[in-house]
Amino acid sequence: PPTLAIVGASYAGVQLAASARDAGFDGRILMFGDEPHLPYQRPPLSKGLLTGKTTVAALALKSADFYREARIEHVPDMRVSHIDPAAHRLTLADGSTLAWDWLALATGARCRALPMPGAGLQGVHALRSLDDALALDEAAHKGKRVCVIGGGFIGLEVAAALAGRGLEVTVVELGSRLLSRAVTPEISRFVASLHAAHCVRVLCNSAVQAIHGHAGKVSAVELESGECLGCDLVVAGIGVVPNDELARAAGIVCANGIVTDALGRTSAPGVLAIGDCAATPNPHAAEPDTPLRLESIQVANDLARAAASLIAGQPQACIAVPWFWSDQYDAKLQMAGLMSPTDDVVVRGDPASGRFSVFCLRDGCIAAVQTVSRPADHMLGRKLVAARTAIAADTLADPDFDPRTLIP
Ligand code: FAD
Repeated sequence: PPTLAIVGASYAGVQLAASARDAGFDGRILMFGDEPHLPYQRPPLSKGLLTGKTTVAALALKSADFYREARIEHVPDMRVSHIDPAAHRLTLADGSTLAWDWLALATGARCRALPMPGAGLQGVHALRSLDDALALDEAAHKGKRVCVIGGGFIGLEVAAALAGRGLEVTVVELGSRLLSRAVTPEISRFVASLHAAHCVRVLCNSAVQAIHGHAGKVSAVELESGECLGCDLVVAGIGVVPNDELARAAGIVCANGIVTDALGRTSAPGVLAIGDCAATPNPHAAEPDTPLRLESIQVANDLARAAASLIAGQPQACIAVPWFWSDQYDAKLQMAGLMSPTDDVVVRGDPASGRFSVFCLRDGCIAAVQTVSRPADHMLGRKLVAARTAIAADTLADPDFDPRTLIP
């Protein structure tokens, strides 16, 4: 029987293994992960785990029994160090090799390293793994003043969680607004006011020049403006880089991620790439044919399902609407579809109430819906984006108009 080897034991790898079995793949499935844990959920690392609402025990993606029953051989603490697509072999960190029929790269991404002096001081943290989260949680018990570098989702979730624990928090963001890559200016403004209301200082248009320390421990962050922010904890949330080194070394085409088609096929026959490490065309993007690397659980799961369908001999590309969420304080941000900076924007509801929705229109159709604490609008938004619903901006802007009537 054929062997499916999966590199990376997280969302994409686990979903691929599970879906391949479900779809009738009867060969051997091996899933190598370089972390010591059973595959676990990452979103709570910057949310519930830091606020104390979630425990480590609740993080497992699946139970050990699940892997056993589905005959998925999870090999923890084992790095794949080399792949040879021509010979259909891979090499493990312990020097042993394995022959495969299908190879899936589900290697994810890692935190971008801080490029300034002082980045190696004690008290400077980043957040990707469970071990990172436990180290940050412990540091936050002793810390008083935190500087978060980067006003993206992870930086802001950490800021919210630590402010809620009584730490004094400053967020330093290079861009002119928070979350600028992912949300409209209307949502950015709301998020900035939300953090201000919780006494978090948000500095946009601000670059960190250096991190200073005392006896090896962080003591301050210096901005390009010359301002020095005293702190005993720094959390970097400045984005991630795809783990595409195995693919690059094997000559597989990469461009901000391992380039694939809609079924996860890379430029090497038999080698698939899925999840945060992959750049895949997305039918909902402003440029649907350009490979796009999206960092989200929905994308990891849906591409894994598409790749599994290929392995099982019934290929079915993924056409799902991309969606994402973020929890900060009591606010639930939810994004459906992919916005583009040139979209027309219609706001429904009053941002001052803490519950509103932003509709992004492209070529007269609903291309994205971003909501704050309006989960019903988010679910409706997914349907409207999927159907590429046409609507005039002034109709949608009318508070008396009910967008639910747009569903046929
Ligand atoms: P990863 O989860 O990155 O897993 C890849 C695994 O492969 C890792 O364990 C890595 O160590 C391992 N690996 C890499 N190279 C090798 C190798 N050579 N050999 C063996 N193993 C290897 N997404 C959302 O949709 N909503 C959220 O609210 C959200 N919140 C998040 C909060 C945090 C703190 C973080 C870090 C991420 C969050 N994300 C969220 C993003 C989401 O977690 C990722 O999109 C998702 O984890 C991608 O899954 P993946 O399987 O592609 O990669």
